[in-house]
Amino acid sequence: MEGGMKPMDAEQLRENAHKMVDFIADYYKSIESFPVLSQVEPGYLRKIIPDSAPNQPESLQNVLDDIQAKIIPGVTHWQSPNFFGYFPSNSSIAGFLGEMLSGGLNIVGFSWVTSPAATELETIVLDWLAKMLKLPEDFLSSGQGGGVIQGTASEAVLVVLLAARDKALRMFGRNSIGKLVVYASDQTHSALRKACQIGGIHAENCRLLKTDSSTNYALSPEVLTEAISQDTASGLVPFFLCATVGTTSSTAVDPLLALGKIAKDNKMWFHIDAAYAGSACICPEYRHYLNGVEEADSFNMNAHKWLLTNFDCSVLWVKDRSALIQSLSTNPEYLKNKASEGNMVVDYKDWQIPLGRRFRSLKLWMMLRLYGQENLLNYLRNHIELAKYFEELVSVDQRFEIVVPRTFSLVCFRLLPPQGDEDCINKMNRDLLEVVNSTGKIFLSHTILSGKYILRLAVGAPLTEGRHISAAWKVLQDEATTLLEQYMK
Ligand code: PLP
Repeated sequence: MEGGMKPMDAEQLRENAHKMVDFIADYYKSIESFPVLSQVEPGYLRKIIPDSAPNQPESLQNVLDDIQAKIIPGVTHWQSPNFFGYFPSNSSIAGFLGEMLSGGLNIVGFSWVTSPAATELETIVLDWLAKMLKLPEDFLSSGQGGGVIQGTASEAVLVVLLAARDKALRMFGRNSIGKLVVYASDQTHSALRKACQIGGIHAENCRLLKTDSSTNYALSPEVLTEAISQDTASGLVPFFLCATVGTTSSTAVDPLLALGKIAKDNKMWFHIDAAYAGSACICPEYRHYLNGVEEADSFNMNAHKWLLTNFDCSVLWVKDRSALIQSLSTNPEYLKNKASEGNMVVDYKDWQIPLGRRFRSLKLWMMLRLYGQENLLNYLRNHIELAKYFEELVSVDQRFEIVVPRTFSLVCFRLLPPQGDEDCINKMNRDLLEVVNSTGKIFLSHTILSGKYILRLAVGAPLTEGRHISAAWKVLQDEATTLLEQYMK
């Protein structure tokens, strides 16, 4: 291969990586000039990209030119300060540097021996974060529990559901799978339903209990108790309860303490999904939303949502790591090694679905070290203040209403014209969202609660400042004025 290609040459890497960093830094400098929501039509890319790979190498500059001309138009700019959709997906310099290093080292840390630092750093940093959240000691690695980084909250709920299922099957026998019942509110993320599908839990045994505005869409302990009693009376086996702190639609917070006690009385696994709002709970004034976490068997939050850690980094803690390991471990000959055989180490392959795993703790560790706890608290508080500011703007405009009280940095609101039935109001709000997003100036998403079509403005992009909130409100007001005029004609 003399004179052939050199896919990894340190000096070429240095030169090309500098160009890429420049490209990314320029992207961030000009991020506000792009439409936040990509405005391309489905299939746009096939028309402008060749239909087979090149035979000969091309220059990096050519590729970068294509990225600018063909890829960027098809990007929705999640890092734009004007991105208010879904929940945020944070990036930061520290998170990016950690990702870069992880990509640079490119290790596959499935067992301790495959890169001891990857395993040990993950355990240590997750203990740090558990302490920041004031999680009970049982979740720390010093006892029977510990933390593990999953890719997403969906993987987190799946692995704990599998652990809980197998624990129940050991207790009630393998043939009892058709009797196992899962409970959560109807506001719980669809990831739970998917976990049930994958885990072989019968669809009719997945109870998504009804919530309404009387509890601000939180799960009522009475409704849960009633459902469990009915199921037990019919010979079914309640085995898993999922509560949410910060639901996806409206950031509802389930009453953890009361639910946890019910789970304990019924010997059920109790999982808490705090994918988005978990980050806020590092602030002492928001920590009370986690009161009751001491009753939980597992707790999950996405550091990649709102804690300045680039995607992906979903952090899961369990109190009994052996339950996870019993469900997920395999021990083939080709992976055997002295440290694992001697039970001296953690092998994270046994805490997750895939074998291979990236060195994701680097970015979490770098984020915590380069920013420090105090800055992180202020970062989160600032977003919550900005959301409060937006909520105030909405509430003084008589044409709008705040639909559910704001808890963290999400505001749920809608246009409420003086006349028109619910269908008409819903249509008007759907139209408003459509025209607002098609301006490209801001991006918001929606939900439906009790039949009402609602606009969601989630603050949390690292670049968002007060001026972006004011400008977003102006876009919403202007488009609402035009829309109302059209409707009144
Ligand atoms: N749980 C909650 C409360 C969420 O809001 C989300 C996504 O927004 C998820 C779970 C699923 O997240 P992931 O994409 O990490 O699976």
